[in-house]
Amino acid sequence: MSLTAQTYWAEHAWLNDTVEPGVLITTAPTGHITATRADVPQPPPGAVALRGLTLPGFANAHSHCFHRALRSSVQIGSGTFWTWRSSMYALSQELTPDSYFALARAVYAEMALAGITCVGEFHYLHHDRGGARYGDPNAMGRALIAAASAAGIRVTLLDTCYLSAGFGEPPDPSQLRFSDGTADAWAERAAALRGGDTARVGAAVHSVRAVPADALATVAAWAAERDAVLHVHLSEQPGENEACHRAHGRTPARLLADHGVLGPRTTAVHATHLTDDDIGLLGRAGTAVCLCPTTERDLADGIGPAAALRAAGSPLCLGSDSHAVIDMLAEARGVEMHERLGSRVRGHFTAAQLLRAAGESGYAALGWPEAGRLEPGGLADFTTVALDSVRTAGPPPRLAAEAAVFAATAADVRHTVVGGRHVVRDGVHQLVPDVPRALTRSIAALGAAR
Ligand SMILES: [Zn+2]
Repeated sequence: MSLTAQTYWAEHAWLNDTVEPGVLITTAPTGHITATRADVPQPPPGAVALRGLTLPGFANAHSHCFHRALRSSVQIGSGTFWTWRSSMYALSQELTPDSYFALARAVYAEMALAGITCVGEFHYLHHDRGGARYGDPNAMGRALIAAASAAGIRVTLLDTCYLSAGFGEPPDPSQLRFSDGTADAWAERAAALRGGDTARVGAAVHSVRAVPADALATVAAWAAERDAVLHVHLSEQPGENEACHRAHGRTPARLLADHGVLGPRTTAVHATHLTDDDIGLLGRAGTAVCLCPTTERDLADGIGPAAALRAAGSPLCLGSDSHAVIDMLAEARGVEMHERLGSRVRGHFTAAQLLRAAGESGYAALGWPEAGRLEPGGLADFTTVALDSVRTAGPPPRLAAEAAVFAATAADVRHTVVGGRHVVRDGVHQLVPDVPRALTRSIAALGAAR
């Protein structure tokens, strides 16, 4: 957290779904916003000027940080989600707690540069090669929490239960690093994890493929006892649905509902291939859905029913997942653009709705309900998008949110503030001095990615 109170002056800020000019944002040493005041035409003495549109920080609700090492190398040749997964599993064998920390620090620093102030790390790479326990069985998870701290962003570590290769199949050799053997052993290990000022701990079911049905309730109960969030990959591929039908005679969403996994603390990730009944189950339960449009198109997954899920009652949030790119504005835009391609109709989601998905709803899904709004009492997490770049110049300030969502990229992020601390200043990360070099070195250290 910042050590002193600080006053920021935003040239424009997004308050209550409106672009307001000249907004003072005062932060406390606790990392919270203490006051906001609009219509202040110039930065007062001592205030830090933020030129552009200041938005609530982006919450990247679904990340597997090590997938970042596959960028570009998986863009050669053809294949499917399943062939991509083979490359990812080979890479997973390379990581140690030290190399995981170095890579995660660099990736989280890239996220800070993209305006991301909080990440949900869906973490299943728990053990050493062959499944041997580290001296600290949570060495890998703690490396991720330390990496987020070193990069200056918040993290919710979604400690993931991953037990089987498929329905009724034991883990294959490349998956032994992921498995605790039983759900009870997963629960015991995960119980030793602790959060902190900028870290929280949640749970995840990798998928109905990787967690047997009779183990689902154990994970759900673990999360419920702690009032922790619970995430699960859901129906990313038709193949998962078909295998679930063969094993259980029902869809993955129905299986999760029948075992108490759905509910308002739960987030279903992807939710791409759903029946109308599935959409109703998720919506009625208040289960959030995390869409990952840049990954879903990168992996040829398909287009999820975003508008139908929203209409059914599911809050929508966003994640960069495999990090083919790390750009929450691209994720936000992708939700609307995919809906347009599927329906041949424009205008399903407003810029305001998409910004809420990129911020407030993502924070809620990650267990930080006090964040995601620029208002007193909220966490002082915000980011500033330039309005004078070649992509964003031209529109009047009243259309600044539309310019940010529909034209800006992560390269237009100029400032990122986390808990009142100025982590990215004028496009420069203040804690990781050379983020491209940190990425290059940490990825080059992994044999499978070269
Ligand atoms: Zn994922």
